[in-house]
Order: sequence, then C-alpha cells, then structure tokens
Amino acid sequence: MSRFLNSRLKTFDPYIPGEQPTDTAYIKLNTNESPYPPPPGVVKAINESEVNKLNLYPNPDASGLIDKIAGFYSVGAENIVVGNGSDELLAFAFQAFFEKGVIFPDITYGFYPVYAKLYDVPYTQARLRDDLTIGIDDYIDAGKNIVIANPNAPTGTALSQEEIEKIVKSNPNQLVLIDEAYIDFGGVSAIPLTKNYDNLLVIHTYSKARSMAGARLAYAIANEAIISDLKMMKYSFNPYNVNRLTQAAGIAALDEAKYYEKNNNEIIKTREYTAAQLKNLGFEMTGSKANFLFAKHPYIGGEELYIKLKSKGILIRHWDIERIKNYVRITIGTKEQMEKLLKAVTEIVRGTEA
Ligand code: PMP
Repeated sequence: MSRFLNSRLKTFDPYIPGEQPTDTAYIKLNTNESPYPPPPGVVKAINESEVNKLNLYPNPDASGLIDKIAGFYSVGAENIVVGNGSDELLAFAFQAFFEKGVIFPDITYGFYPVYAKLYDVPYTQARLRDDLTIGIDDYIDAGKNIVIANPNAPTGTALSQEEIEKIVKSNPNQLVLIDEAYIDFGGVSAIPLTKNYDNLLVIHTYSKARSMAGARLAYAIANEAIISDLKMMKYSFNPYNVNRLTQAAGIAALDEAKYYEKNNNEIIKTREYTAAQLKNLGFEMTGSKANFLFAKHPYIGGEELYIKLKSKGILIRHWDIERIKNYVRITIGTKEQMEKLLKAVTEIVRGTEA
C-alpha cells in the first residue's frame, strides 16, 4: 500500500477473480468460460482491416453493435447500453441507482458486496433457503432496490419469468436488476418484461454462452430513462469502454445463433451427464441451470477437493465462506474434459473413503 491511498480504502477488500494461469496445462473449470472457441464469423470480423484502424478511437456510441442487439431482442436502440463486461455495467448501476439501499442474496456473485462497499451503498443480504435456492418472499415488496443473478451464482438455481415478474411488479418504486450472465443454459430471460416495467434492468454478457470472455462485452436492456442514466455514467467514466475489435466481434456474434445454440445445448447435456455421474459418487448438488455445477461430498471439503484436483491438473473453484465451504463449483467443459474430471474425482473420493 502506498502512503497516498485514501484512508477509506486502506482496509478495502477487492473482488478476487478465479485463477487465470498462463500455462495451458490445466483443464480449466474454474471461471465459467465456454470451452468452445468463438465461431468463425467472429474470428473473421477481427480482420486486418479492423486491426489497421486501431489508431482511431472506436465509436463511443457503439451504434452498429447496439442496433444489432436491438434487432436481436426486438427492443429499441434507446433501450440498450453496452459495457466492458457486465462487471462494468454492474458498477455503473450500483453507483447510479442504489444510494437508498439494495438487497441481494447472502450467497451470490461476489462482486455485488464489493461494489456496494466501493460506492458506499447500504446493502442487505437475504439468506438463501436451506436448499440454497432464492426465497422470492424476501424480495416481494422489499422496500429496497434489488439485485438478483438469474440463474444465481455460484449455486446455479434459477427463478422463473413469473417469479421475476412478481418481484418487479411488487416493487414499482425500486429498481430491480436481473443479472442474466447464465440465462442461456436453461433459464428464461426477463428481457421481454422490460417493455412493461420501467423499474427492470436486465444485464447480459458475451462472456459465457457467446464464448467471448476475453473480449469483455456486455449489454444492459431497460426502459429508456434507466438506459440514459447508465449512458450518463459511461460518458462520465470512459466513453470508449468497448474497444473497436470487440464491437466488430459483438456484431458478428449475433449472426451465429445456430453455432451458439448447438454449443449451449451440448453444455446443458454435458452438465446433466456430469451431475448424474457425480451423484453416483455420493455428491449432492443444487439443480443448476447454468454452465456449472455446485456440488458437495459428505467426506471431502471444498478446499481439499480443490487442492487435490489442482494437483491432478484440474482447476475448479471453492469459497472460504462458512455456509458453502463444503461446496465446489465446477464449470462445464467439453465431454472429454468432464470425463477427465470424473476420473480424477473418482480416484480422490475412493481414496478418501478408504
Ligand atoms: N455476473 C455474474 C453472476 C457472473 O458470474 C459474472 C462472471 N464471473 C459476471 C456477472 C461478470 O461477467 P463479465 O465477464 O460480463 O464481466
């Protein structure tokens, strides 16, 4: 720490991202990336002619990209803002809208409490039910702004569109932010509801189902007034938040629905297969609708399983949080990767039981 750091930040705990090792020796099942590369159309879009324009700033409005997203979801261009990953859009939202307080689950995306602290937002954490699902009663007529990841992370469980609508409807004077980072792996999006409710903000990312975590691209969809506030945040922070190559890739990706649908169906199938195999090994799991499983074994804690798998060349994630310390989160990779994981887990579990 330098002697220049503001006193308020001297004890600040930042978000800790999952490991990103630079060697490729690991089977990487720790940060919920897609195991599949971007489609050929996206690779082609980042061509020499685009690279040759890197001397010029990108379009700050990202209008080509926004028009394309608007067409894809049948909403207006005025209903969309794009960001450098959903993390940036979440940061804008926490800073712009939540001064009177926000509620989110006790077990959810670890960035929510970090942003709340960073931006001095008073926050409440609603305890997940004992089965680690979200109890929607905690959010009905909440009297506070609301953030829900749907599906939730790291638990993977999803609320239905009807449940989200009940929450939004019962809180007309609060902003309800639904973070749909994992929606394409089995959930139902709340985007259509943004036409009927002026207090609903939905955030999507290209990082998971669109195989573009490295490009840093996300978008928020909401009524025009909310979007214009978020644009004000963007133009007060970094007008060029989405770089030229990412804008081109983001446009091209929207012509690749078939490629993504095939991959996402494969991920869902592999998730169900892996879940069944883990169950046979004695694991308990939440019912995940995301591209990961959240699992615990009666004989082995989360950290121990993480360490043992790492020594076998497989990275997963665990948390030092009392309520979930026995769990691990395993990203769904290719079928081959999951077979390797299952083989390693079988050896570890048998060793523990012996
Ligand atoms: N929301 C949730 C629930 C996430 O799990 C993640 C990724 N870890 C993000 C947002 C951030 O995604 P992005 O890559 O778009 O910043």
